[in-house]
Amino acid sequence: MRDFAGEIESRKSAGLYRTRRTVTGRQRPQLTADGKPLLAFCSNDYLGLAGHPALVESVRSGMGDLGLGGAASHLICGHHQAHHELERKIAGFTRRSAALFFSTGYMANMGVIAALAGKGDTIFSDELNHASIIDGCKLSRARIRTYRHRDTDDLEQQLAETEGHKLVVTDGVFSMDGDMAPLKRLAELCAEHDALLIVDDAHGFGCVGPGGRGSVASLGLSEEDVPVVIGTFGKAFGTSGAFVAGPAMLMDYLVQKARTYIYTTAMPPAIALASCTSLALVETEGWRRTHLDRLIKRFREAVANLGYELMPSDTPIQPILIGDARQALALSADLEARGLLVTAIRPPTVPDGASRLRITLSAAHTQDDLDRLIDALTACAPASAGESPGQNKSAALTATS
Ligand SMILES: *Cc1c(COP(=O)(O)O)cnc(C)c1O
Repeated sequence: MRDFAGEIESRKSAGLYRTRRTVTGRQRPQLTADGKPLLAFCSNDYLGLAGHPALVESVRSGMGDLGLGGAASHLICGHHQAHHELERKIAGFTRRSAALFFSTGYMANMGVIAALAGKGDTIFSDELNHASIIDGCKLSRARIRTYRHRDTDDLEQQLAETEGHKLVVTDGVFSMDGDMAPLKRLAELCAEHDALLIVDDAHGFGCVGPGGRGSVASLGLSEEDVPVVIGTFGKAFGTSGAFVAGPAMLMDYLVQKARTYIYTTAMPPAIALASCTSLALVETEGWRRTHLDRLIKRFREAVANLGYELMPSDTPIQPILIGDARQALALSADLEARGLLVTAIRPPTVPDGASRLRITLSAAHTQDDLDRLIDALTACAPASAGESPGQNKSAALTATS
């Protein structure tokens, strides 16, 4: 048998060991984690909708009417009117012809990519794409060619030298960096080279673009430019589930072929009702995006001169690049000692030597919350201390993230 315990030990000594914190009570910036009150800046609840009373009420009344379980897969007898209505609303929200509702974004990527490419085909994938995209590519058994992050010249060259069915897949907003894919150029290249473009906008929907309609809409790109978009309800929408949207023929094809759609139990219909409510809130409560954008600008201005390495991001994902995994843990521990929760992100989630604190901002944060973060970052700053961030090495050894 393999030395599993030994692998765990070597992860510990490399600063790559992972643990979980147990949250009690609601998901909100003022979290209780492992019994300790902390102000969190690492959730994906970007619009602060996860605990919204209207969503809770949708589930409560939905369950009163419809019960709990999904009972069967969509193709047997699990496809409920609540799911169907949600798909219609998603199509409207994304300005696509049709949509399909999945149980999670991970399953959507696995199912969609593996259905739309297969043996003998080629998938072109940005090197920083999300794990679920990478796994979908592997599952498809297509040839996988990664191109350098956001490098459309590299992609163009690879497209030009490849024959056969081609698929290009990218995050819309990159999950660990917060920057955006060059979607306009990607759409042009895909049109030129007859490649199918898939954009996973898990972090863009809700936050970016007119009415929160995502990074594709923010550039005014239509279904013709970007045929397939994927989103999750677990992040800005504050609920659960995911979707793919695009031409009706392709959605029909996915119903035939997407195994993660076909062979799983339908999500509880009451959750789909909550997502319908959430779609409406995202569009109508534009103040959440306005407030969030203000927090993002203030954060970047305040932290710009502290000596940290920020990344080129205008989105709620505002990472501080550290490099070394143990140093990232140490800075995270320093912040935690000041009452803040910002998880360190380490390989293999990010490339070797690119460990970071992935700070995320939310419309649920107040200006005072942000001030607390800025004060703590100032106190831990490399510029003021004259040393590299995360000096508290003893804390690093006991850090739990
Ligand atoms: C989180 C995430 C997913 C997975 O979505 P879930 O609904 O959480 O499974 C897919 N793609 C990207 C880019 C993500 O960040």
